[in-house]
Amino acid sequence: MVGAGFAGLYAHHRLRALGLTIQGYEAAAGVGGTWWWNRYPGARCDVESMDYCYSFAPELEQEWTWSERYATQPEILRYLDHVADRFDLRRDIEFETRVTAARWSEAEQRWDVVTDRGDRVSARFVVMAVGCLSASKDPEIQGIDTFRGPTYHTGRWPHEGVDLTGLRVGVIGTGSSGIQSIPLMAQQAAQLTVFQRTPNFTMPAKNAPLDPDAVAARKARAREHRQAMRESRAGVLVPPPQESALSVDTATRQSTYEAAWESGTLFGMIASYNDLLVNPDANETAAEFVRRKIHEIVADPEVADRLSPRGHPLGTKRPCLDTDYYATYNRDNVTLVDVRATPIVEITPAGIRTTTQEYELDAIVFATGFDAMTGPLLRPDITGVGGVALRDKWAAGPRTFLGLATAGFPNLFVVTGPGSPSVLVNMAVAIEQHVDWITDCIAYLDERNIGAIEATVESEDDWVAHVNQVASYTLFPRANSWYMGANVPGKPRVFMPYIGGLPRYTETIESVAANGYRGFELRVSPTATVRR
Ligand code: FAD
Ligand code: NAP
Repeated sequence: MVGAGFAGLYAHHRLRALGLTIQGYEAAAGVGGTWWWNRYPGARCDVESMDYCYSFAPELEQEWTWSERYATQPEILRYLDHVADRFDLRRDIEFETRVTAARWSEAEQRWDVVTDRGDRVSARFVVMAVGCLSASKDPEIQGIDTFRGPTYHTGRWPHEGVDLTGLRVGVIGTGSSGIQSIPLMAQQAAQLTVFQRTPNFTMPAKNAPLDPDAVAARKARAREHRQAMRESRAGVLVPPPQESALSVDTATRQSTYEAAWESGTLFGMIASYNDLLVNPDANETAAEFVRRKIHEIVADPEVADRLSPRGHPLGTKRPCLDTDYYATYNRDNVTLVDVRATPIVEITPAGIRTTTQEYELDAIVFATGFDAMTGPLLRPDITGVGGVALRDKWAAGPRTFLGLATAGFPNLFVVTGPGSPSVLVNMAVAIEQHVDWITDCIAYLDERNIGAIEATVESEDDWVAHVNQVASYTLFPRANSWYMGANVPGKPRVFMPYIGGLPRYTETIESVAANGYRGFELRVSPTATVRR
């Protein structure tokens, strides 16, 4: 089992109950995954806390009480620590240990797994619970190592915290991490200079302490609520839009968008109408609404203009939720540099130099994101049947069957892999779904003395074609997003997650399982009984 975030922890819990012997590895020193690594100021969830948590144990749901609508990183980490303690999930995990390689032996129908500490373990199954957003990425900027002061990546934030008081701080990146941290860093720093390449659409989170009565009411109907979440399109309850943005008059549209803006929900705006993610004209009405909001909030019209996203449709890069993001640009100590107009040339010992000026800095924050979805799967050297490397197989982009497995790599399961709804939905729901499916699959194999399960090339080809086809109906491929791999130079431009929605996806994976794992080849064990 590789990884001990939301996915790895739950997988330990479920697979242990099958009676399997588990060896877990986790690169971090503790459990929590995303919430262990991303400790930058302002880090919080943007799916509501009461929805962004496990549903597998009703007693856990009843005993844990979130304090805020959108919980902070420390609170989410406390929750995951609590889960690990409550279900005794740490005992099989080696921390501060990174899996560096895994090699399949067809003769033995086993994986040989190697770590950076020199451990070697022979495993029947490998479960990659490595996360979609765990391979943090520094920007490729000349001179990055020459800077005299400290540099920090939001995804590897120091655990002791960082005191920016009185410092001249530069931030590169205005995705969710930048947008959450910039308002808080601006309150500390003497001067904050934000280097923005692409302005993003962000909406106010309207975060607040949770009302105890509302929490009690939710707990009272937790089971029904969870079931409805699992049956929803994105793992959160948003009423499905019925009409086109272009079928209503301007006043109606404005009041719908106003309500979405005020709702403080991630999917509120894009779920306002049924064509915002497929029709550029419809999308433009929502984009223009947000641009107007920016102009209302930001005092300097030129700064407001620079902050206004153009050139990619709203929602085609991951939407963001913020607290006081745009208003932060009204502060005297905050400067916005448009590095599309005046690109960064290099990082110097003294700061950041663009084509027009050098900005002297005491510290630099890289809010530059991740080698998403494929990065954590391709960093280890994984070789499958016939010695084929996963890196070679995926050279033109990831290929999976259902985002759970890849042909040529038997008995290797991926939790929320490329080709599954994963990052487009509430990930707590997606993770539980995958772990449940993998657990049921392994139980099925055990009952029948099956040694190996492998996705067939045909089923994988069909699935990849379907994933691409569904994406092609949408506006997503128009954006240079991390969904498309566009944030990593040289990465193949492929829309990686599955945008067909949870209901369709659930029906598919359930039907595959119900039909004896149709689309997979199942091979009996070479030994009389499978060696656990
Ligand atoms: P992770 O939490 O990423 O855990 C994977 C673990 O695997 C990591 O700890 C990593 O160290 C370990 N690992 C990776 N490779 C190796 C290796 N080779 N050897 C050993 N260990 C390895 N999603 C939502 O749905 N809602 C949100 O509000 C939300 N907020 C987010 C906020 C931030 C700042 C970020 C970065 C992501 C957010 N996400 C959110 C996505 C989030 O990643 C998932 O919700 C979820 O936490 C993923 O859990 P996971 O266990 O799959 O992966
Ligand atoms: P991100 O969305 O990929 O944003 C990275 C930012 O850095 C972008 O603005 C990018 O610009 C910029 N950048 C990268 N390289 C650059 C360079 N060389 N020069 C200038 N700018 C550069 O990463 P993230 O903000 O860490 O978020 C990643 C994902 O994690 C999110 O989309 C979300 O799924 C999750 N997350 C969620 C939350 C939350 O609110 N709960 C918080 C943080 C993260 P371009 O856009 O031009 O590439």
